[in-house]
Amino acid sequence: MSTPATTTPNTAAATCECPECAAAITLSRIPMRGEVLRCADCAVELEVTSTTPLTLALAPEVQEDWGE
Ligand SMILES: [Zn+2]
Repeated sequence: MSTPATTTPNTAAATCECPECAAAITLSRIPMRGEVLRCADCAVELEVTSTTPLTLALAPEVQEDWGE
């Protein structure tokens, strides 16, 4: 008879701006600090440097694997 409290007015848990192309990035959940996301607009990899407030920074380029 009671309405579940899980109803959210907005599907986005968080939004932030891509530091590379300034596109709005909408996240369906709060990411963990250190998590790497990808901008859907410019495909750059972004690392979550802080969650409160949500801050993204360009992720360091992954070096090619030199053999094993
Ligand atoms: Zn971008």
